[in-house]
Amino acid sequence: MTSDEFRVLTAVEMGSKNHEIVPLSLIAQIAGLRHGGSHKIIGELAKKNLVSKIKNAKYEGYRLTYGGYDYLALKTFVKRRSVYSVGNQIGVGKESDIYIVADENENQLALKIHRLGRVSFRAIKSKRDYLQKRKSASWIYMSRLAAMKEYAFMKVLYDNRFPVPQPIDQVRHCVVMELIDAYPLRQITEVKDPGKLYSDLMNLIVRLAKHGLIHGDFNEFNILVKDNGDPILIDFPQMVSISHPNAEWYFNRDVECIRTYFRKKYNYESMLYPQFQLDVNREFDLDVQVSASGFTKQHQQELEAYQAQLNENQDENVTEVLQLSENYNDDVMEILNEDTNISYPDLKEHHENVSKSELTEEESNNDSEGL
Ligand code: ADP
Ligand code: MG
Repeated sequence: MTSDEFRVLTAVEMGSKNHEIVPLSLIAQIAGLRHGGSHKIIGELAKKNLVSKIKNAKYEGYRLTYGGYDYLALKTFVKRRSVYSVGNQIGVGKESDIYIVADENENQLALKIHRLGRVSFRAIKSKRDYLQKRKSASWIYMSRLAAMKEYAFMKVLYDNRFPVPQPIDQVRHCVVMELIDAYPLRQITEVKDPGKLYSDLMNLIVRLAKHGLIHGDFNEFNILVKDNGDPILIDFPQMVSISHPNAEWYFNRDVECIRTYFRKKYNYESMLYPQFQLDVNREFDLDVQVSASGFTKQHQQELEAYQAQLNENQDENVTEVLQLSENYNDDVMEILNEDTNISYPDLKEHHENVSKSELTEEESNNDSEGL
């Protein structure tokens, strides 16, 4: 990518803060290039799928694609030396894509790209003020919020010795973290000691709550189980504080998820399970620490409102999906790798895992729709 192309792409991102469709004249102005110059360059970016031209607009306008936003984020990671190369995709969820990446020393890491608004936000009839203000570029904003939240919680948990991946870096809608060499519980057919895992997990739920936190999506897809049987918890964008008005409901749902899974899958049922009123007495305030870290209460509310609306509009919001090409991710990774002139480390070992985790994620989405 030429430096002028990069300028123009950055200009589109900046313009997106106030415009859902960014007029070319504004792009040219921000980029500081002559109108004719920007016109040619934006055409190149559109060919590479980093921006898309919006037809039917009153003026010539463009929108950043996921690919364009990915590119900008990855470029920053490379600059900060958190990431050096991008490898295989190992997971795809409704609201994220997971890749294996590596740093300069060929340490393999996991890159989680948040994709809120994979389903267009415009299809959601917003009643809430702060979201209405944010309607333009909302997928960019919401995806970034989710990444900020995930990173903030993961950091506080990791620093307090909870079994979570080590957070490495966060930029825009992306989080880089430790790659855990383990599969989700869902994919593990045989657990040596279900009783021990069950109590480890319940203890984890209680320990979190004593620290002021509820995971909110504590299920067999978000628990990785290592060879030695130890669980690692992932996926934090829906965490809530135990001061949340519905804390008890979230807490019970997490507990119930585990009970149900163990009953169905391992025919394991225990009389013992944690109860919010009895077992949760706050001892620490990690929830407060998180809001001090930059992910504020306001951010939390915005994300919650977004998630609530998604749930309210489950049928409608399938109608419009943001403009993307099918293989935009490959495009971006290719451009990035050309740019930085890097070679892939040997990621073969993980390659065969790809299809497996994709399969499970699909099942995961089906499952969760019923809730
Ligand atoms: P989503 O929000 O889409 O559910 P998750 O964070 O749960 O995303 O990740 C989806 C899948 O990707 C997980 O089920 C797991 O298989 C894999 N994964 C995510 N993070 C890691 C990691 N740090 N190490 C290894 N695998 C991971
Ligand atoms: Mg998950």
